[in-house]
Amino acid sequence: MDKKIYLNESDLPQYWYNVAADMPNKPLPPLHPGTKQPVGPEDLAPLFPMELIRQEVSPEKHIEIPDGVREKYRLYRPTPLIRATALEKALDTPARIYYKYEGGSPSGSHKTNTAFAQAFYNREEGVKKIVTETGAGQWGTALSFACQQFGLACDVYMVRVSYDQKPYRRVIMRTYGADVYASPSNRTKAGRDVLAASPDSSGSLGIAISEAVEMAAGDPDTKYALGSVLNHVLLHQTIIGQEAIKQMEYTGDFPDVVIAPLGGGSNFAGISFPFLRHKLEGSKNVRCIAVEPASCPKLTRGQFRYDFGDTAGYTPLLPMYTLGHQFMPTSIHAGGLRYHGASVLCSQLLKDGLIEAVAMQQLECFEAGVLFAKTEGILPAPEAAHGIAQVIREANAAKEAGEPRTILFNLCGHGHFDLQAYSDYFEGKLTDHRLDDGIIQENIAAIDMLQPV
Ligand SMILES: *Cc1c(COP(=O)(O)O)cnc(C)c1O
Repeated sequence: MDKKIYLNESDLPQYWYNVAADMPNKPLPPLHPGTKQPVGPEDLAPLFPMELIRQEVSPEKHIEIPDGVREKYRLYRPTPLIRATALEKALDTPARIYYKYEGGSPSGSHKTNTAFAQAFYNREEGVKKIVTETGAGQWGTALSFACQQFGLACDVYMVRVSYDQKPYRRVIMRTYGADVYASPSNRTKAGRDVLAASPDSSGSLGIAISEAVEMAAGDPDTKYALGSVLNHVLLHQTIIGQEAIKQMEYTGDFPDVVIAPLGGGSNFAGISFPFLRHKLEGSKNVRCIAVEPASCPKLTRGQFRYDFGDTAGYTPLLPMYTLGHQFMPTSIHAGGLRYHGASVLCSQLLKDGLIEAVAMQQLECFEAGVLFAKTEGILPAPEAAHGIAQVIREANAAKEAGEPRTILFNLCGHGHFDLQAYSDYFEGKLTDHRLDDGIIQENIAAIDMLQPV
């Protein structure tokens, strides 16, 4: 059989898949933090273009991908589906392991899939500039490129600590034409307030979101964009699974298990929802497993509650698995997975027992990442290595049971900007981390007063 399965450009999917249409329990609405009433489109209009707000609440099963977006997708899509034959051999497993590779996109991760869509709709509605935040830098890179492609200006508020530690991420965003500011900055009230209190603040994603939102809200020609968590972002990522369904058909296999790491939930949703659809429609059974870091275990140790999406408390309240918006994860290298909550769609599906979740310690992840690089040749992003670690567990379980098993995972990004992380791993500087129950309980107790009565 073929090692790689490519689709033709003419096979590029026409539709994104909206899982909400098939969910037995529909997602609960986001609430206004003051009134505790559902937020309406008018509440979101200063920040997002109308079409994205429409997608956020759409009950339709299929949402057509506009030609303007499909044309940009052709730069790197359809992406290949690859059989990890060398990894299978190294593990001596009867399991068949396939992965979808999203690292070949211009930004090196899956985030380009939604960046193109978001830039497109903003341009269609006459927006001139998009402002966003970035932590590790993958999202900022993807949006910078998308804005350049659609003729929009782009401002990126980059968490100070990453700005200093990952200068190359900053350079690539500039190359694509974005203006990058270290956050906290003195350009916004939110940033100035933080700097007044602590001039040496290393920043946080929460502060950077506050700065980006403030800039967008204050300018009618400027909107805000988010790289994960929201329903419309998850929707755009389903292009991954839509392609994978067709590619799996060519192999004659159907996955027993679909695996992806979960930060906010978009890459997990992207690969798994089109497969989960078969389970929701009752035609095929499939296990979908989200992998989170043990140091930020919202799915496995958090609680299903209403909570803010950002640290500062500017966003609507979202019904999700959360560790509390004040929770500060230790600084592991998988920066893309250090988020206190999980998307509303993934949270509801987990609550209803339709998907599974596991938490993974970082040493097991780096060990898996290194084995993957040695066998398959691609150095995975530390986030992606979380998924690979779970793939290896599944393959070993298949070996123990002495039965075949088909495993599919999303290799959501390469790790070429994360070599410091691998270097730290090789030098023995990384450790596993036990997170105290007391800390989780404290942070969750702090959001009690946010719950609707
Ligand atoms: C952002 C990012 C993640 C986290 O993804 P979510 O879609 O937010 O769950 C994982 N891997 C890579 C490479 C990323 O860039």
